[in-house]
Formats: sequence, structure tokens, C-alpha cells
Amino acid sequence: MSPARPPWSGEIGRLKILNQLLAALSQASDVDEVYQAALSSLLQATEADRAAILLFDEAGVIQFVASSGLSPAYRKAVTGHSPWKPGMRNAEPLVVPDVFLEESLAQFNAIFESEGIRALVAVPLALDAGVFGKFMLYYAQPHECGAEELEIARAIAFHVALANERKRAELARRGSEERLHAILDNSPAIIFLKDPAGRYLLVNQRYLQLFHLDREKILGHTDYEIFPKDVAARFLANDRIVIETGEPLTVEEVAPQDDGPHTYIVTKFPMRRPDATVHAVCGIGTDVTEQKQLELMARRMAAIVESSNDAIIGKDLRGIITSWNQGAERLYGYLSAEAVGQPISMIAAPGHLDEMPEILARIRRGERVEHFETQRQRKDGQIIDVSLTVSPVYDSAGQIVGASKIARDITDRKQAEQERLSLLEREKEARRTAELLNRVGPRLAAQLDPDKLVQEVIDLATALVGAGFGAFFRRVAGKDGETNVLYALSGISLEEFRRLQLPAADASIQRVEDLAAGVDGNPSIRSSLSAPVTGRSGEVLGMLFFAHSQPRRFSESHEAILTGIAAQTAISMDNARLFEQAQRVQTELKRSNEELRRANRDLEVFAYSAGHDLQDPLHTIAISAELLQRSVGARVQGDEAMFLCNVITSARRMSVFLDDLLSYTRAARSEEGPAPPADSGRILAEVVASLSRPIEQAAATVTSGRLPVVAIHENRLALVFQNLIGNAIKYRSQEPPRVEITAAEQDGWWVFSISDNGIGIEQEFAEQIFGLFRRLHGPDEYPGSGMGLAICQRVVEQYGGRIWLDASKPGEGSTFCFSVPGRA
Ligand code: ADP
Repeated sequence: MSPARPPWSGEIGRLKILNQLLAALSQASDVDEVYQAALSSLLQATEADRAAILLFDEAGVIQFVASSGLSPAYRKAVTGHSPWKPGMRNAEPLVVPDVFLEESLAQFNAIFESEGIRALVAVPLALDAGVFGKFMLYYAQPHECGAEELEIARAIAFHVALANERKRAELARRGSEERLHAILDNSPAIIFLKDPAGRYLLVNQRYLQLFHLDREKILGHTDYEIFPKDVAARFLANDRIVIETGEPLTVEEVAPQDDGPHTYIVTKFPMRRPDATVHAVCGIGTDVTEQKQLELMARRMAAIVESSNDAIIGKDLRGIITSWNQGAERLYGYLSAEAVGQPISMIAAPGHLDEMPEILARIRRGERVEHFETQRQRKDGQIIDVSLTVSPVYDSAGQIVGASKIARDITDRKQAEQERLSLLEREKEARRTAELLNRVGPRLAAQLDPDKLVQEVIDLATALVGAGFGAFFRRVAGKDGETNVLYALSGISLEEFRRLQLPAADASIQRVEDLAAGVDGNPSIRSSLSAPVTGRSGEVLGMLFFAHSQPRRFSESHEAILTGIAAQTAISMDNARLFEQAQRVQTELKRSNEELRRANRDLEVFAYSAGHDLQDPLHTIAISAELLQRSVGARVQGDEAMFLCNVITSARRMSVFLDDLLSYTRAARSEEGPAPPADSGRILAEVVASLSRPIEQAAATVTSGRLPVVAIHENRLALVFQNLIGNAIKYRSQEPPRVEITAAEQDGWWVFSISDNGIGIEQEFAEQIFGLFRRLHGPDEYPGSGMGLAICQRVVEQYGGRIWLDASKPGEGSTFCFSVPGRA
């Protein structure tokens, strides 16, 4: 019987088996399925009863990956045996028709025997990279492998090699894709891919989380469907730049998030096809919001530090300057570039060097140094007062890495303090001086005897300035000009003083600290103090001189005391001189007053006695002349008659004059005792009654208002009324006279007004009419002696009042006023 035709025989059969294999391979989901498909094809297509697939492992040892009908013992025994080395090229199949005849396999004879293997074929699995494994076909009987059988085995081997490779590549690709996704999804950055139309192709997990999106909802959609319009437009504009330029672009993009806008630094780059056209834009964005804020804060801090008026300096723990703001540049004069990198000791002031290590030691202990007042030296060498506040600077790990120092210039403040202290000191000194002078002043002022005054001054001043001795020289004018003449000494005898040579005196205050002994030859004077005494009118009255046997005994405050004493002395000397003069003047005044009073008294006595004594002879003359006229009047004619008439008129006028003179001298005498209250209305009525004749003759009217009680002796007030009303009637105009008397109170005084409608008086004579014998008319016009108003003035003034012509114009009448005290 012809042997059964093997299934692979014939072209058609081979193709069928290969097609089945290809179909199986294409459906295989993993390599094992590939191997199983290959094994079954091999068993179908060859006469072999068993088959196996072995591959080189990573160590280059060939291992079973699939087999059919082989015992584990066999597999173990032959593992690692291969006719080819891994990677060998052009390997050819090995056919062993009888294993027992093959010497190279003699070592396996026993296992072949027990496994029932008599023939075998090894087909290499190889691709471009050379051998990577083999197919094994096993036969139970010796077997010559035909060319066809071998060919189909090789064809299967080729396909399996390919499929194996493809599967591996696919697995590798899938693995790398998964890794990539894992990387993308675990990245803290946002990563996305968009097509040229802006549609999302890929986004990572972070992106979805941040913007609360589902992958399905975003893929295929554009930014316009996710973000506000303006935000989306900005994103897409950047994408467009990448597409158009084909270049990567790194930009800042701001995206709204739950807690507000976040800033991302996004790098966008084009993804190209093999033909270089851009098919997508990939973006990788990192959230830099926090850094931006920190940066902003840092910038703000830096700006604050820079613009601070205070010097702000950073230094490390070795004391090396690490930062130096503009305030420091201004305060210390070094530019930042000059200071940074230098030791802080560059600004140490002499005598303050030790402070710096001390401050650093405190900083290292984490202490803060506050308001530490010290001194520093500027670049220009000037020493300045500063107040320092130094604080430790920590790194992010909490370690102290340096110090920040704030320095404030307190030079002005210190200076002001110093000035205030010295002002206070000076003020105290001035007060002490003033108190001393205040005590001295009254003593000097009270001394009006010039000799005693000068001695007192020199004694006091020598004690006050603590001088060894003192002297006062008086400035005396002589024929050789002015010279200083010694006037008084204190603390030294005249003989001793004469032996000294004094330094030349000046017209200003002078203080000599140290007159080297020997130069002037007098050891008693090593320091001196002198001051001129200048009078009110500027003339130098004298010179005060003080000396001490030790140098530098006189200070500025002694100078101040002496200046004060010199001024007091000048005043006191002026006073004493004035007092002397005043006393002289007063004595003189007293004397002339006495003389005047005596002359007045004599005059009054004379006037009174003349008036009185002349009255009688005058009466005799007048009466005799009238009798003569009566007896011989008809016989005398012409001149004789006129002479007689003249005698009579003159005698009458003389009589009136004598009456007035008597009245005047009486008015000059003051009444005894204080004035009793006088009812001026009643007194006026009595005066009017006494004047009834002239009133009637002149057809005058005298009226008055309510008149007060005043403090004046009645006969005196009557005298005033009489004269003023008499004048008002005498100096009448054409019209019958109208006289009105009123009174008004003013500050406890009564002012009486007597108005008439008479001829009036020119205002320019208002003063002079009150003079004795002053008249504005001749005796022929209006009779009178010119004493009436003078009498009134004397009376009123004796009571402290006054009299004046209040209003008057020629032709319009006059008003006389006088004031008298009201009732006490
Ligand atoms: P006499 O004796 O002249 O009146 P008096 O001292 O009383 O002297 O007055 C001085 C002068 O003042 C008078 O001569 C007169 O010219 C003027 N006189 C005084 N009283 C009046 C008056 N009532 N009206 C106008 N003139 C007056």
C-alpha cells in the first residue's frame, strides 16, 4: 500500500496550511497563541509526531516556550542545547534522520531512547537580527526529511518569526503607551494636544481635574466650549502662532480656576507628520501662580527696602555684607557695589569695633538687638550717631544664616540733646548769675553815696567772682585827655597794689586766662578779668578790674556776673549822680518857692492894704469933687468944668478898681475848713436879688433850671455867679439880655453853664480873657477892671474845678462853664 499522502503534499495543501496559520496568527492575542498555532501547523504540515518551539532567553540560553508531546524530563535534558548561537546569520535547518547515528548527539541517546525519539529536525527561527530560537520536529522512527517537508517547516518558521516579532513590538508599544499615559496622568503639569482647528486630541488627568472636565466631553471640543470667550481667544491665538511659525513658544497664560485666576507658564510646540506638516499643537503648562505671588511679594519687599529712609543692611554670620539699600548708601556714603562682599567692620567707628562680634554672637543665638545706640564711620570719615535694630535671618530650614540690620541716623537728635543739655546748663548758670545780681542790685541801688557805692561794688564783685583782689578806676577828664584814676580797692593794700603792673585795660570786657609769670613780673596776677562801667549816655564812667594769682580762675559765668555788676554799677552811679542833682534842684526849688510865697504874701498885703487904705482918701476926693461941682458947677465953664468932671469919673473908676482888687485878693485866700453843702439854687436867687437894679435897668431876664447842692463855700459860689451874670448883662447886644443858668452832673462834679444873648467873644480870646486885667474893650466902651473872670478862675480852681468859655461867637452870645465838686 502506498504510504498515506501527507497532508502538506501538494501546493494547494501547503497554501491551505499556511493560510490557516496566518489567520490564526493574526487573531492571536498573545505570543502563546502564536506558538500554539505554529505547533499545530507544524504537526499538520509535516510527518513529525511531536514538535517544540524554543527561544533564547536574555542570558543566551535556549528554552522551551511551547511543546507538544514532550515529557518534562526530556525538555529539561535538552534545554540549552542549540546547534546555533543566538544572533547567528544564515543558519540552515539541521536534519538528523537517525539520532543514534549522529555522534554529536550521543550524549542524549539515553533520553532519546526513553522519550521514543529516533529522528529530529531543527529549523532556525531567524529575522534580520539573526537566530533567536528554533522549531523542533520529532519522529518516532528514523526519518529522511524531504525537501517539501523541510520547505513548509521553514515557511512556518518564517511566519512565526514575523508574528512573534510583531506581537513583541505591539506589546512593547502598548507598554510604552501605558507608561506614557501614566506619566501624563501623574504629571503635576497640565498637558494637552490640540489639532490645528483647536480641537482637543488629548488632555492629561491634571487638566481634567483642574477644569472639572470629562475626557469624553473635552476631546474633539475647543477652548470656546470650556473657557470664557476672551480666555479661549487668547489660548487659541498662541496656538496659532505655533502653527504659523512652526516654532515652540513659551508664554504665560492665565486660566480661571475655582480660587481665582491662575498663571501658567505654557510651552507650546508643534507636532509634525513625516511630511513635516503640523498636525497638532502640544502644550505643557506649569502653574506659577504661587511663584508669581512670591516674586511679587519679593519685589515689593525689595522696593520697600530700597525706598526706605533707613539704612537696611544684610550680612551673613561671618559679618560679610550681603545686601545694602539706598538708605545705607545715603547714610554711610558707600555704594552698594562697594559695600556688598565687604566685612561689616568697614563702617565701624573707632572705639566701637568690639560691638560687632558681640552683636553677631547674639544674632547666632537667635536674639534680636533693638534700638542699640552707637556710632559708625561714614566713607568720608565723619562719625555719625546711629540707632541699630538687628534681627536674625533664617533660611527655609529654620537655620540662622545671617542678620538684617536697620540703622537710623540719630546724629541730629544726639546733637539736639547735647544742645538742649548745654542750653539747660547755660540757663541754670544764667539763672544763678541773675539771682546773684538780683541780690546785689538792690544793695547797690540803695547806696546813694557815690564813694560808699563804689567800695561796696568792688567788695561784692571781688567776692562774687572769687578774685584775689579787685580795683575800681574812675575815668577822669584832664587836660591830657581821659585817664583812669584808682578809686577803690578790695583784698589788697594800696602799697601792694602800687607795686603791681596791670595789663592794659580795654573799653570792653576782657578775660585773661594765663599771664605767664615773669612777663609782667608780678606773681600776684596770673589771670584777670576787667569790665568797663558805661553810663546811660554811653560814656565810660570807670573800670572794674579783678585778678588772681592762679591761671584760669575766671570763667564765662564770672564774665557774665561781672557784666551784670558793671551794668548795675553804672545804673547805681547814674542814680547816685541823679540823686545828687535832684537834691540840688529840690533845694533850689524850695528856696525859690519860699521866695515866691513871700513875695506873693507881700503883694497881697500890699494890694489889700492899698485897696483898703486908698478907699477912704478916694471917697474923700470923690465926695469933695461932687460937692465942689454942686456948689460951683454953674460958674465953671469950659476946661475947668471938664477937669472937675474928670476928677469925679476917675475917682469913681478908681473906687470900682479898688473894690475889685480887694475882691481878688480875698478870692486868693482860701476859706477855712471843708466846704459845707451849698444849695446853688438858693445862692443864685440871692445873687439875682442883689443884682435887681442892673437887671431892671437892662430889662434883663435871668432863668435857671433845677440847681444842685454842691461842695463849695456859699460866698465863693455867689462871687462866681455875680461876676458871670454881671458880665452877661454888661456885654449885652441891642436886645434885652436873656441869661440862663443850668447845671449837669459829670463823674461826681457839677458843671454849671451861664448862657447869654450878648455881643459874644471871638474864639481866639477864649484863653486870655481869664488873665488878670485882660479886657477886650476900652473903659469908655464897657466899664470894668479886667479882674472878674480872673477872680472866678481863682475861686473855682481852689475847689479843684475849672472854668472855660464853652461856646461863643461875636453877635451870637456866650456860654461860660465852670465845674465844682458835688456833695461829698
Ligand atoms: P471886665 O471887668 O472887663 O468885665 P472880666 O475879667 O470880667 O473883666 O472880663 C474880661 C473881658 O471878657 C471883658 O473885658 C469882655 O471883653 C469879655 N467878656 C466877659 N464876659 C463877657 C460876656 N458875657 N460877653 C462878652 N464878652 C465878655
